[in-house]
Amino acid sequence: MSHWYPSPDPMAAAGQAREAFREAFGGEPDGVWAAPGRVNLIGEHVDYNGGLCLPIALPQSTVAAVRRRGDDVVHVTSTGKEPWRGTLGEIAPGQVKGWAGYAVGVPWALARGTAGPQGEPLGQNGFEAAIVSQVPIGAGLSSSAALECAIVLALDDLAAQRSGRAPLGHGDAGRARLARACVHAENEIAGAPTGGMDQAASLRARAGHALSLDCRDFSVRHVPFEAAGAGLAVLVMDTRVHHALVDGRYGSRREVCREAAATLGVASLREVAFETLDDALARLDHDEHRRRVRHVVSEIERVRRAVAVLRSGRLGGLGPLLDASHASLREDYQVSCAELDLACDAARDAGALGARMTGGGFGGAAIALVRAASAELVADRVANAFAATGFADPAFLLATPAGAARRLA
Ligand code: ADP
Ligand code: MG
Repeated sequence: MSHWYPSPDPMAAAGQAREAFREAFGGEPDGVWAAPGRVNLIGEHVDYNGGLCLPIALPQSTVAAVRRRGDDVVHVTSTGKEPWRGTLGEIAPGQVKGWAGYAVGVPWALARGTAGPQGEPLGQNGFEAAIVSQVPIGAGLSSSAALECAIVLALDDLAAQRSGRAPLGHGDAGRARLARACVHAENEIAGAPTGGMDQAASLRARAGHALSLDCRDFSVRHVPFEAAGAGLAVLVMDTRVHHALVDGRYGSRREVCREAAATLGVASLREVAFETLDDALARLDHDEHRRRVRHVVSEIERVRRAVAVLRSGRLGGLGPLLDASHASLREDYQVSCAELDLACDAARDAGALGARMTGGGFGGAAIALVRAASAELVADRVANAFAATGFADPAFLLATPAGAARRLA
């Protein structure tokens, strides 16, 4: 038997967030905002190389009940976490420990103008926020961006309301700026090296579509992705493994990519055309550089092909691309692990059309493209394979492409 995450219910989460707000702060919030997690269909470890990726927003979201304050105090709570209370002036790189950095980094980034003119948070005013999340945390489904994006949308809305301007969140260009502020917050205050895909997916996705994101300029295209209409489903398999030292291994890969790009005389690996990959590899001296470059350049090409498959409507064509992506991440980029490999192998053995690890790797989640009618069977077979190997029980959810962050109340 397989373990499934509960069906997402944003309105129930909104009710819980309101309740948590009343308990923590008394009275009612000014509003409630929700931002989804995401799963990346293909295009892994390419965002920081200026590449292409193809995430979808999940139906699971993080909900924030927020109220503006009359002073400069910021007070945030989240289910099961230690609350954080401080002033706007106390938020600085290295000063906020733990989860709260993801939340309070947002007003810091807004105040520094990352979102551009009009992106001011609430003037000199602080706020209170109670957070409830339905996005599995630390599973590679981007709970961190969901948290930032719920907060940024709330602060933008409240600031706009106060000053009589239109919220940045009302248009895609404004949302791109809010996403930039969230990336800045995560990099500088939470101290996590994130590349920008997660925030773009959470703030800019469209229901029923995958988000084709060009990380060179963060331009987006919405590509229809109606898996259900084709009798297919995207099964997310959370291995529930979180390996230590992930940040160091992520950072070292970014660094190798930067070095390889410098050797090849390009600003980023995105500039290496797939057709010239063999020439580029021949110009690199280190085996590690060759492997990393081969992954990045071939993965960007796979994203192009995946977009073409989606546009053709023959979604089964995604399967082999997912398999090839996984092989490349395992062998060339070396970011998979035994649990992710087993999840993908067992899903394929059970009839999945293709499967790959998704997210940063070393644990977290994998996805499988399955026939909708066999999703449960595939999940059961993966769970059995985990049990037989002595791995912890995995958990599953179905990823139907949901809409972007929004105000709920
Ligand atoms: P992912 O984004 O894939 O879930 P990350 O490691 O990037 O994994 O982010 C997980 C971290 O984000 C958590 O350890 C916690 O610090 C923070 N976080 C995410 N969601 C929440 C939440 N709802 N409440 C408190 N902290 C959260
Ligand atoms: Mg994250």
